[in-house]
Amino acid sequence: MALPKRRKSHAKVRTRRANWRATAVTMTKCPNCGAASQPHRACLQCGNYNGRAVMPPRSKTTPRGDE
Ligand SMILES: [Zn+2]
Repeated sequence: MALPKRRKSHAKVRTRRANWRATAVTMTKCPNCGAASQPHRACLQCGNYNGRAVMPPRSKTTPRGDE
């Protein structure tokens, strides 16, 4: 396996890691209920995807929708 010839300086490592950050999640409007939802994913509010219900809608008692 290839090995690095020189040790990376702290500045090199820190400069590289300075650009490593989380990006904001893209949100679109659900065509069924109008709530913000991620594209190419079922709506978390109403459970619809591509015009049909694919999962039960989020209930009031379970905030994250996981049973
Ligand atoms: Zn929806």
